[in-house]
Amino acid sequence: MPPADKSSTSKVLHVFEGHPSFYCSNCSAVIALKDELISKSFSGRDGRGYLMHSAVNVRMGSKEERPLLTGVHTVADIFCVGCGDRLGWYYHKASDQSQKYKEGKYLLERERLVKDNAWKLDT
Ligand SMILES: [Zn+2]
Repeated sequence: MPPADKSSTSKVLHVFEGHPSFYCSNCSAVIALKDELISKSFSGRDGRGYLMHSAVNVRMGSKEERPLLTGVHTVADIFCVGCGDRLGWYYHKASDQSQKYKEGKYLLERERLVKDNAWKLDT
């Protein structure tokens, strides 16, 4: 009997080869390019988070309003297309003017990511 859901891994794009990148800690799908990192001092749901300009191999959940440390934001959780793990969220809208720069950006949970060996992050 063929495994029901394994075909989903074929949707994983292999991009950024040779460039320092973040990968899903569960299935090793490439998620984001290191150069797209805006800030690593954000708070995720479970710990530290990275603010990114872009992400790949993710699908978005439904939009919801969520009270975060910096006020109410309209966000959508993002999930790895390779394994379905929740990786963070996408900022659709920020209510506070001072938080508008986050709109259209991605928050990736540090715990859900691994980075390749070509570079290091300070912790
Ligand atoms: Zn994954």
